[in-house]
Amino acid sequence: MPRTEIRLNPHVAALPPYNAGMNIAVARKISGRDDIAALASNENPDGCSPKVLAALANLDPSRYCDPACTALRGALSEKLGVATERIVIGNGSEEMIAAICRAVLCPGAMVATVSPGFGLHEIEALANGATVDKVAMRVDLAFDVPGIIAALTKSPAIFFLSSPSNPVGPALDAVSLDRILAAVPPETLLVLDEAYFEYVTGDVPDGLAVLSRSTMNYVVLRTFSKAYGLAGLRVGYAVFSDERLARAVTSSKTPFNVNTAAQIAALAALEDEAWMKASVASIAAERARVADAVSALGLRAARSETNFLFIDVGLDSQKVFDHLLSHGIIVKPWKEKGYETFIRMTVGKRTENDRFIAALQMLAGQ
Ligand SMILES: *Cc1c(COP(=O)(O)O)cnc(C)c1O
Repeated sequence: MPRTEIRLNPHVAALPPYNAGMNIAVARKISGRDDIAALASNENPDGCSPKVLAALANLDPSRYCDPACTALRGALSEKLGVATERIVIGNGSEEMIAAICRAVLCPGAMVATVSPGFGLHEIEALANGATVDKVAMRVDLAFDVPGIIAALTKSPAIFFLSSPSNPVGPALDAVSLDRILAAVPPETLLVLDEAYFEYVTGDVPDGLAVLSRSTMNYVVLRTFSKAYGLAGLRVGYAVFSDERLARAVTSSKTPFNVNTAAQIAALAALEDEAWMKASVASIAAERARVADAVSALGLRAARSETNFLFIDVGLDSQKVFDHLLSHGIIVKPWKEKGYETFIRMTVGKRTENDRFIAALQMLAGQ
């Protein structure tokens, strides 16, 4: 007798897949090259602070990790000037996105976000039975502030906003952020995803500082995956407007979600901000250099306050991806309607960026 199919949660069964960057081993196999330039996942090409690696030498894998992440929350509390009770550490900030949705959303809820945006802002909402309203970025690749305000007027349960934006790159300026905050209804939870906070170079407000002065319901998400270079260890955090929300999200995650190595590494990374700042400065300089080279080819890149560039290559993004892969370079091709000619390129090491530029020149026939 054939196996009876188990009934699945329809919200989960219908989820679109998460569009992750191509794995390096797979890229080696397809391209036949060893020297892969992994420019698809916004990781830090400089690695991480040597102090992180030194601290990990003291790891004892035999004991359960601290489920409360006491030391790390204490260090963040001091750094951010926020009570520890308002901070929750996640297995990546990704896990916090899932836990926030699980804690807040009931089937039929409405969530709003920006498009193109970070995939999980939509996927985790859908997984919990919500509908998702998406506000398109403007054609000039800036935030559509009136559009965001209009979506807020419909009182979504959650509004997910990444600023700086992934995948596009710009950050909201102080005036735009204030206009948006003024429009957040009291029953809406604003999730401000600041995964690229450390990379900002322009005149961009600190979202947590601005939100702290408000009386609204909010979460600010930050991560150790990007500027601190700990993507593989999975550690990020959420700062909540109040303890009640933080408690609900704590209940909706697994208890030992952040492993010992991740806790040790994140603490050591916080103690070496000088390393992170030096890395951010060199990546910002490379970002400007790559952006200039891209525009010299007559291609358009969105303004970026991050460690990546969103580039309109004017050709089918999958074809561009295949071409770059044949040269051992992985980027992320965009597939979303209206953006099929865009790729997102993570700023890498200088030599990797040079390879990227050379391969792009080839495509442009120059
Ligand atoms: C990378 C990224 C994250 C996820 O970071 P992790 O801490 O590695 O889970 C969250 N939000 C945005 C916008 C990102 O780009």
